[in-house]
Amino acid sequence: MEIKSLQQLSLTPLPWQISAWQQLHARMENGTLPHALLVCGAAGTGKAHFAQAFAALALCRHPEKAHACGHCGSCHQLAAAADPDYHPVTIPEDKTAILVDQIRELSQTLALTSQHNGRKIGLLTPADAMNANAANSLLKTLEEPSAGTLLLLVTARPARLPATIRSRYQAVRIITPAADTAVQWLNDREPRPDWPALLGIAGGGPLLALELAKSAWMQERLRFYQMLVELRTGQRNPLSCAAETSREDLSLVLRLLQIWITDLIILTTTGNTSGPEIINVDAFALLQNALTRINLRGLHAFLSRLNEALALVGTPVNGQLLLEGLFMDWSEGLQTLGAAPLAARGG
Ligand SMILES: [Zn+2]
Repeated sequence: MEIKSLQQLSLTPLPWQISAWQQLHARMENGTLPHALLVCGAAGTGKAHFAQAFAALALCRHPEKAHACGHCGSCHQLAAAADPDYHPVTIPEDKTAILVDQIRELSQTLALTSQHNGRKIGLLTPADAMNANAANSLLKTLEEPSAGTLLLLVTARPARLPATIRSRYQAVRIITPAADTAVQWLNDREPRPDWPALLGIAGGGPLLALELAKSAWMQERLRFYQMLVELRTGQRNPLSCAAETSREDLSLVLRLLQIWITDLIILTTTGNTSGPEIINVDAFALLQNALTRINLRGLHAFLSRLNEALALVGTPVNGQLLLEGLFMDWSEGLQTLGAAPLAARGG
């Protein structure tokens, strides 16, 4: 799931980004800011927000307390997406990758003289969406950066970038906030009882949790869990469930399964009494229904299979087939999984 860029111009870092911000700001102040930064971190931790706010600061004519002022000419231009020194690059609406022509255009613009403040900024997000030609073209820009150039590459998957690019960028790591920090931040925006669950599904990324809250399918989360219970009781068929579920975002389906199994493991190891410790607190009754005739070994083996499946997301995997296998194992109570090592099962 792609996180939509924030609507307004962001000027300040998010609460869990302050340390990374301060370090970068100090380097800007003492003139040791590199010309290429790789802003990385887990999905939904606000990497693009951070990069954009830092770009605003770098371009601002009158920064206030280490942030862009929000009201100088440059800040106004940036807010109106009309700053001649700021060049965001992302995947075009009708494409699936950042293309070489976009990088060439960026390089040409960055080679021009800055309009004000001496800086010119290129912001690529998600940078791992560059195709091979685009990445090659960017390398040339990196070899001979014009004065005042700052390139910000934003990615949740730095390993997907060519090593030649990674080695030329200094990494800025955006941490995943502690769950209580994240839930408080989310509640400040919109109070909801299911933030802990959504945050769990989002892998801890608060901005991804915000996106999930808007997703229609996510509101059907309890129905999905009901379906899992019905698979176990034989009321539903694994193949039809897989066909139905394969229409949804595969990574989300797998994440839902992952936290469902994690919750079952918690309930099994704590003797079915740890309601408050589980992620799906609102699905406690459903989880209890699913617990019959399932052993811990089977649950752990299934969790390993889910992790393997999650690693396939983004590759040309057949999602429906993948889900069929998982739902069949689940409907059979993970008996075979718990009994035999994974390798012996032929996938
Ligand atoms: Zn300003």
